Amino acid sequence: LKIQDYRPQPFTDFTRPENVEAYQAALNKVRAELLGKHYPLVIDGERVDTPGRLTSTNPCDTCEVVGTTAKATVEDAERALQGAWKAFETWKRWEPDARARILLKAAAILGRRRLEACALMSLEVGKNYAEADVEVAEAIDFLEYYARSAMKYAGFGAAETTWYEGEENGMLYLPLGVGVSISPWNFPCAIFAGMLAAPIVAGNCVIAKPAEDSGMIAGFVVDILMEAGLPAGVLQFLPGVGEEVGEYLVTHARTRFITFTGSRGVGLHINEVAAKVQPGQRWIKKVILELGGKDAMIVDETADLDVAVTAAVQGAFGFNGQKCSAMSRLIVVDEVYDRVVNAFVERAGALKVGTGEENAQVTAVVNDEAFDKIGKYLEIGKGEAQLLLGGEAPGQNGGKRGYYVQPTIFGDVSPQARIAQEEIFGPVVSILRARDWEHALEIANSTQYGLTGGVCSNDRERLEQARQEFEVGNLYFNRKITGAIVGVQPFGGYNMSGTDSKAGGPDYLANFLQLKAVTERW
Ligand code: GLU
Repeated sequence: LKIQDYRPQPFTDFTRPENVEAYQAALNKVRAELLGKHYPLVIDGERVDTPGRLTSTNPCDTCEVVGTTAKATVEDAERALQGAWKAFETWKRWEPDARARILLKAAAILGRRRLEACALMSLEVGKNYAEADVEVAEAIDFLEYYARSAMKYAGFGAAETTWYEGEENGMLYLPLGVGVSISPWNFPCAIFAGMLAAPIVAGNCVIAKPAEDSGMIAGFVVDILMEAGLPAGVLQFLPGVGEEVGEYLVTHARTRFITFTGSRGVGLHINEVAAKVQPGQRWIKKVILELGGKDAMIVDETADLDVAVTAAVQGAFGFNGQKCSAMSRLIVVDEVYDRVVNAFVERAGALKVGTGEENAQVTAVVNDEAFDKIGKYLEIGKGEAQLLLGGEAPGQNGGKRGYYVQPTIFGDVSPQARIAQEEIFGPVVSILRARDWEHALEIANSTQYGLTGGVCSNDRERLEQARQEFEVGNLYFNRKITGAIVGVQPFGGYNMSGTDSKAGGPDYLANFLQLKAVTERW
């Protein structure tokens, strides 16, 4: 099991009619077999049902219930935590390669069911074909990559120490224990899978709490991991309400680590409550956070403007801007401002709005909370800047009721405007005019966030300056700023965007391990 053998999954080409047909067949299969399905909790390898339910509705057609999951109580959470510690006693002793094989088998099963997973996400969160496809590819990649990179941490001597006369010295990596993984709805398959697979393959046990809006695809992934042979208690599946079970678990004295991907507000709250030592607690909890962004792409006067506009449209409107990596600020130098803005507005205005199932370019946003929040920012934007495109949240499209928001662009936005500083998490772009390159870079670095960023330029010196000075964890030149590939672009941000833990990176598993230095005097 060598990391060198890892290869990212290729993406499906939906310009080929046979791939579109296969996707539609998968949609029919999912409608026939998964629609209305209920996913119970999984605690200690047993499916456990609860009186409460969480319901997934199709955001593109809110009359449609996609299915349900159980809704865990704090008693369920307590049982899951105790059971996971019990399972840890044996799981931590498994050979790393044996643990890794379970992930590899899960990756293979998910590969065979790839289109089904995609189709389920089209219904549950409104992904179009390509967005769903790259996501399932990423989920497979996470399983493959973490399985293979686990080998690097195996055995005594895995980390280097220096020779010393008369002694044997060395280090070994040991798992931390039981942790909680709280994952988001925007990558409900890939990030859900990655955030549990990494700690598990490193020898920890995990309580996975998926987002309330996307429990079904999470349940689908859990079924695959169980089929692949994950022992009871290693993965506890606990859909529930964040403020209830999430809060209970992150504050609990027996939680060893927390990995969270989501909003800045919730992430900072978790960080704060996790820092408080509870009665009986024996450790400092480790917290790994992947939070928001207000990601900017700069276009200067040397750029290929076609390349820049394509990158802007893809980065801003892929999955309706519901990515922490999405381009929500476009910074254009004055000399080419009008040309870039006109072309960008024209291209964005031609995007087709519709359902995930019909493979629209822009679909509905995920839920009423997102819809209301984005709607508020549309009004704030109208008061702060010049509206160039969209600006309405009609809540319906082509006879379907859903959380539809028009692709929206504001021009000549001031760098300090709320719509230039605050994460909106929807199909809304603020364009900022810069006097020149230096000014553009200064604007780019003027938020609290630092996740992704981009520069479209053909000036070598500027690119090199940005390489050092653009304050982001993931920087892209002359392409879109979304779509990091596991192992290729390890992903994670600076400042309020998180702990720069670099998911899909060579050191990610170290987040879930502790080193022990052992010396033997001969
Ligand atoms: N990794 C994703 C990307 O590069 C974004 C993840 C997120 O939005 O949480 O686009």
